[in-house]
Amino acid sequence: MKDESLQYLHGVGPKRAAVLASLGIHTIHDLFYYFPRNYLDRSHVTKIKDLRRLLFTDHDITVVGKVVAMDTVRGRGGSARFVLVLNDETGSLDCVFFGGIQWFQKMFRVGEVLAVSGRPAMYGGRIQFVHPEFDRLSLDEEEEGEVDWSNALNTGAIIPQYRSTEGARRVRLDSRGLRRIIKRALGEKLHVIDETLSKSILEKHELVDARHALRSIHFPQGWNDLDRARRRLKFDELFYLQLLLAYRKREVKLEQQGVSFVVKSKLARQLVDSLPFELTKAQKKVIREIASDMSSPRPMNRLLQGDVGSGKTIVALIAMLIAIENGYQTAFMAPTEILSEQHFHTLRNFLKAIPVNVRLLIGGQRQRLRKDILEDVKRGSAQLVVGTHALIQEQVTFNQLGLVVIDEQHRFGVLQRAVLREKALKSSLRPVHPDVLVMTATPIPRSLAMTVYGDLDVSIINEMPEHRKPIRTILRFDSQREEVYEFVRQEVAKGRQAYIVYPLIEESEKLDLQAATKNFQRLRDEIFSDLDIELIHGRMSPDAKDEIMSDFKLGKINILVATTVIEVGIDVPNATVMVIENAERFGLAQLHQLRGRVGRGSEQSYCILVAKEKILSAALARPPSSEAAFAEEVERKKAEARLKTILKTIDGFKIAEVDLKLRGPGEFFGTKQSGLPELQIANITTDGEILSVARKEAFHLVADDPQLRRKENQSVRKHFLERYKNQLALVKTG
Ligand code: ADP
Ligand code: MG
Repeated sequence: MKDESLQYLHGVGPKRAAVLASLGIHTIHDLFYYFPRNYLDRSHVTKIKDLRRLLFTDHDITVVGKVVAMDTVRGRGGSARFVLVLNDETGSLDCVFFGGIQWFQKMFRVGEVLAVSGRPAMYGGRIQFVHPEFDRLSLDEEEEGEVDWSNALNTGAIIPQYRSTEGARRVRLDSRGLRRIIKRALGEKLHVIDETLSKSILEKHELVDARHALRSIHFPQGWNDLDRARRRLKFDELFYLQLLLAYRKREVKLEQQGVSFVVKSKLARQLVDSLPFELTKAQKKVIREIASDMSSPRPMNRLLQGDVGSGKTIVALIAMLIAIENGYQTAFMAPTEILSEQHFHTLRNFLKAIPVNVRLLIGGQRQRLRKDILEDVKRGSAQLVVGTHALIQEQVTFNQLGLVVIDEQHRFGVLQRAVLREKALKSSLRPVHPDVLVMTATPIPRSLAMTVYGDLDVSIINEMPEHRKPIRTILRFDSQREEVYEFVRQEVAKGRQAYIVYPLIEESEKLDLQAATKNFQRLRDEIFSDLDIELIHGRMSPDAKDEIMSDFKLGKINILVATTVIEVGIDVPNATVMVIENAERFGLAQLHQLRGRVGRGSEQSYCILVAKEKILSAALARPPSSEAAFAEEVERKKAEARLKTILKTIDGFKIAEVDLKLRGPGEFFGTKQSGLPELQIANITTDGEILSVARKEAFHLVADDPQLRRKENQSVRKHFLERYKNQLALVKTG
């Protein structure tokens, strides 16, 4: 690699090099790929006098002015804030900082020129920015040779702004400092960058070359130039991501020999004939797709997507029966113990008249039982093994595992999928590349599906079983809780069952559990003392959970109080009420999943969201006056958006799209877990078009020149091996 150490770069030195390393910048290459987080548009500077008209705008506004005063002000409660007064020729603006006061005091000097960006607010009759972004524009001694920014004010220049840290600022690597060394590096070292795309791709998609793109992403010659640089770099990033996926898929498709199952479907037919319902058209269609994959000699690698309640389990069971009929074992992995137990009971119930040996393997089972199960699995007499990730523990050996099903796949990482597949390759009797079916109820916007599941074939159940009435979703406030309880009571009187769910999040797990337990006691002892009511949560032993769930299923329990352990998969058609307490604290996907626990039978079902009144209160009369208050306001707005969405629609796809917007793709789908590289510049949500094109090129390349032998593909080959080696390792196992 031509990368050079940074410390010999002019103006860096060992101390700054160490700080840069802490920002993830180890080489010149990293420095070039440290993209600006933002740009300051000098042609769009607002005059201070115009800010009053722009209160509560939805985007940041930039002002350029001179620091005329600064001071630390103590509030009545003893809290301090740092205020910096900025003037331009039209007026005066306060910039207020609540945190990091000591640092800010040292940061600025009276007389210097700053560009600040933020949202204007009024406080005590003065206009202010709270914690604005700022950028120093005035010239100082050490900056000889550089542009005099204060003179550049009216030229319409686009100034890059970089993410920095407090440690970096201490060695004067604030945004401006970074800008300076990046500019210098671009002048001296750009030759270390090689082109990463083939000439034909560059030409075909009218992409600028790599060096041009890097120069312009930092110092664009105008907005069009910046756009071109961005498009090129996004394409690059998405192209290599898709190339990884293309190899992952190819590995499975071409080079592995799987099992050609013979689809006789005697058992499956027997099962279908015994069902109390007809399969939907959509179910039949996906079963055909799966059966066709299974009969092919290539290993199946298929994603089955269908909204909550669409009936995926029975589809999976039919696939498993095909494998079992061929003499193979099957594994069915689910993310929680409760869900595994439920599947175990459901499957056994479906199989009442069909001789299939179903076993359950989860953590916390008694030693003797566990030993017996493991032996059964190893001998091959266990034909269908349901379980949690206990299934992928080292001690588990299969005899001849031919089909792997993973339920609620989004709860698992790509590695877990890989390990379960490995189990089949290590089968003691007949090692094979197994067929893999993963299932998810989380609807995935198309663009995201192309990346997160880009190596899978997709089947979709796009139809609900008949006779389902749409669930009614209702919002109630804390003060209306009595009314909610009354409603629950009425439904129970009609013979139905209800869930009451309390939030439990990791950060405050202990407190949440305490709160849920206390609420449960009050419900049991005071409100519903005449009814059968139980509490279930994740900390209970598997046996205890199992007992409660089966009692609930049998109708012995009227009201099940739960923490979010029941979020995924639970299926009790007689339950018609889902009460979600502190609904504002739940994520959208969770709310959708929880709501999906009702509406599974033919009766009208209800989902009642109980939220804090102030969540839907109108926007604050006054701008938030501290950083904490501001953050709180942002959270409130998001919670409001979530509740409004869940009230408005039951369409999983629409919900997923809002969710994606609110949370961003990384968090939404745990891309970290997927074993794929993090995206730096491309955005899966908004760059769908570039993504499609890049995907097409990448898949075409792998089909056309899989070994990347051709001369025109050498740049791609080199870059791929240099930069994506680690992720490539996963290709073999993913
Ligand atoms: P999910 O796709 O959410 O996993 P399940 O497989 O748990 O859904 O199915 C939900 C419920 O619908 C179960 O009680 C199941 O037995 C039932 N079900 C499945 N298919 C049909 C159908 N075609 N008609 C009626 N009920 C069905
Ligand atoms: Mg399910």
